[in-house]
Amino acid sequence: MNIMILGPQGSGKGTQAELLVKQFGFNYVEMGEILRSIANSNNPKAEEIKGYLNSGKLVPDEFVRTVAWDHISKKESSLREKKKGFIFDGYPRSVAQFEQLEDMLRRFGKKIDKLIYITIPEEESIKRLSARRDCTKCGRIWNQITNPPPGPETCECGGKLTQRGDDQPEAIKNRLGIFHANTGPILKKAREEGILTEVDGERPIEAIHEEIVKELGL
Ligand code: AMP
Repeated sequence: MNIMILGPQGSGKGTQAELLVKQFGFNYVEMGEILRSIANSNNPKAEEIKGYLNSGKLVPDEFVRTVAWDHISKKESSLREKKKGFIFDGYPRSVAQFEQLEDMLRRFGKKIDKLIYITIPEEESIKRLSARRDCTKCGRIWNQITNPPPGPETCECGGKLTQRGDDQPEAIKNRLGIFHANTGPILKKAREEGILTEVDGERPIEAIHEEIVKELGL
């Protein structure tokens, strides 16, 4: 089974994807994280990608397609042996990317079985993202409201916490605007294909997880 998890920034889609990975062993494709690691590598496109990330703009579809293909084709055969699927988080983010992904999966005789859309209001997104802190040492993500770190700017591992460049108010608004403009058509397409499930993201993490597991029939 291959799943897409979509939701506005701060909806908790990453948390839900990780719970599904832990419990069912899916292969996790978190596009934002993959792009951030490319931006911090010696990839010739690193600086260009960093520019998109810091402004909250979407990285061009063609680059994202190459990254996704690289990931899917590398993992596909081992997943097939283990009868596991992919969870795509933050990808696709446009109908063009949706169609690219369907096409890539089709080449392996696979499809997107379900799109889980986690909903939260815009004010809640802004509130949650402004409170998010990443550990510079172990990479763990904290939230000063929903999942507070041991010290105001310190991780459990002792590492220093920072705020992502694109979690500043202007970039957050930019990202949310882009998200909503692009997501509407994706949801419409998923609804037409009968694979859309909407889940209310303003509830405890466990309750959301249970509903998703039930919806997926796992
Ligand atoms: P996220 O961690 O999902 O909030 O993504 C952070 C940033 O990565 C976005 O603001 C975009 O600049 C970029 N990004 C993530 N996923 C995609 C995608 N599917 N297509 C284009 N850009 C993306």
